[in-house]
Amino acid sequence: MVVGAVLAGAPTLAFYHLLDGLAMRQGENEVSASARRFIALAEARIGRAIATLDDLAELGVASCRPDHVEALKRANFANGSVKEFSLVSPEGETLCSDMETSVGNRSLLASQTVPVRPNLALDVVRIGDRGQRFVRIRRPAATGPNSIAALIPTELLIPQTTMQGAPVTANMRMSLADGAFVDGRTATVEGRSADRFVSSQLSPQYGLGVTMSMPLSSIDTQRSELNMLALAVSAAVVLAIIAFLFLLPARRRNNPVDEIERAIAAGEFIPYYQPIIDIGSGQLAAAEVLMRWRKRDGTVVPPAAFIPLAESSGLIVDMTRSMMRAVRDEMGPVLATRPHLRLGFNLSAAHFVDDQIVTDVQEIFEGSQMQMSQVVLEITERQPLDNLTSARRIIAALQGLGVRVAMDDVGAGHSGLSYMLKLGVDIIKIDKVFIDALGRDSNSTTIIGTLVDLARNMRMEIVAEGVENFEQVVALRDHGIKLAQGYVFAPPLPGSSFRRLIEATDARREPPASAYASPASPLAAAAAG
Ligand code: C2E
Ligand code: CA
Ligand code: CA
Repeated sequence: MVVGAVLAGAPTLAFYHLLDGLAMRQGENEVSASARRFIALAEARIGRAIATLDDLAELGVASCRPDHVEALKRANFANGSVKEFSLVSPEGETLCSDMETSVGNRSLLASQTVPVRPNLALDVVRIGDRGQRFVRIRRPAATGPNSIAALIPTELLIPQTTMQGAPVTANMRMSLADGAFVDGRTATVEGRSADRFVSSQLSPQYGLGVTMSMPLSSIDTQRSELNMLALAVSAAVVLAIIAFLFLLPARRRNNPVDEIERAIAAGEFIPYYQPIIDIGSGQLAAAEVLMRWRKRDGTVVPPAAFIPLAESSGLIVDMTRSMMRAVRDEMGPVLATRPHLRLGFNLSAAHFVDDQIVTDVQEIFEGSQMQMSQVVLEITERQPLDNLTSARRIIAALQGLGVRVAMDDVGAGHSGLSYMLKLGVDIIKIDKVFIDALGRDSNSTTIIGTLVDLARNMRMEIVAEGVENFEQVVALRDHGIKLAQGYVFAPPLPGSSFRRLIEATDARREPPASAYASPASPLAAAAAG
């Protein structure tokens, strides 16, 4: 949790600063943009008034004659932002205007010539008791000493609302080139702080300046919105990091290869033993070691659920090694006094990529209570080995140690007889599919006959696998097959049961002269059906 908060802290803080900077920049942009907008508005309105004054001069307007006053009225009608067109004396007195009534006494507050038009004057005028302020543009009349003038209310140059119609929250001040005050506005904002954003824009054409300023509080809404966003994003980041930290070990737990590695270290892979019976005598002759995964909760997982992954990950080599050690330690004592009993271990293709298996077998069984002659190694025919030459060499090296090699699942794969013969195995295990077809399918019966002949010629032993009923036992005996394995005798048994079975059915004795010949036993009676 703490790590998550710390990890999330730095980027969150940076993000927060980024957003705050963004809000500030937005504030700055906003004031300079509205200052530019107001200057442009003032320039447009003043420019239109000047154009109208030029038109009036061209029409010859120069006095208070009725037709000249009529021209002033028409001009006013056409120009929305000009309040009044008038004739002004050289002394600055308004002689007549387009208005019917007098607009009150006026005072001239400031004046300057227009930079782009030196014959034009730009005055600041206050009229009447209410003190309304105007910008007055004056130009010489067509003839004579008088001027024609246009009055623009300053409020048209300094709008009270934004383009969107919202009240302007900025302070604003318009001035002449010398700094003389034209008009301004002080925005009322609750809890206004000192102005933070300031922008000054100039109109060089008319000698006008606009200064706008906004307090920091004017962007409070945006900032608080951005702060909320920052908060939400930070919370999401913290949650994501915490979730990640929590899920990480879970993911590691859920990785099946990691899980197998952990189970190897915890010794959760254990051997089960399936008896192989001499069906001539009913005696226990051997067993196949079949791996089981006994989980911490006591559930026992069959190999189909983990062997494929163990093989593809290469972990099978480690697992086989620890299986061999466990079998040696668990069965060594009962095997030491029964040298005719053999145990078969399943190997995988991964065991034939190098000589490691030879070293492992030597190291594990040499000098142990379980002799090399009691070890059988089964190679499946289902997945053909990549390199037959090196497989042949490894098999020969294993046989050199005194162990026997069996070809497993014969008939189930596609490798065929020649494959089996090239590897030079000692035992063939006929797959359950042939045993199932025994008696039902004449082809299968013929093939078994051929295999038996071949095995006899090659001095190989035959084991029938997956024998499930006594009819099959009888048929196998008729074929001259001596060894069988299957549920009809026993399923794979836990080590303790298998050991008790050995002790109960097979007294300590010297190996019989012939490989599997032995006195009748209770199992033989069962096998004979
Ligand atoms: P497999 O080597 O052909 O082993 C024989 C399988 O047939 C075993 O299944 C056994 O329980 C089952 N079986 C025995 N008798 C009968 C029967 O009468 N009827 C039927 N329907 N099935 C019978 P299991 O123990 O589930 O093992 C399955 C496969 O897992 C094995 O086939 C073998 O290929 C692999 N395996 C088991 N242990 C190991 C191991 O330690 N190393 C390697 N590399 N593979 C192993
Ligand atoms: Ca096998
Ligand atoms: Ca098999």
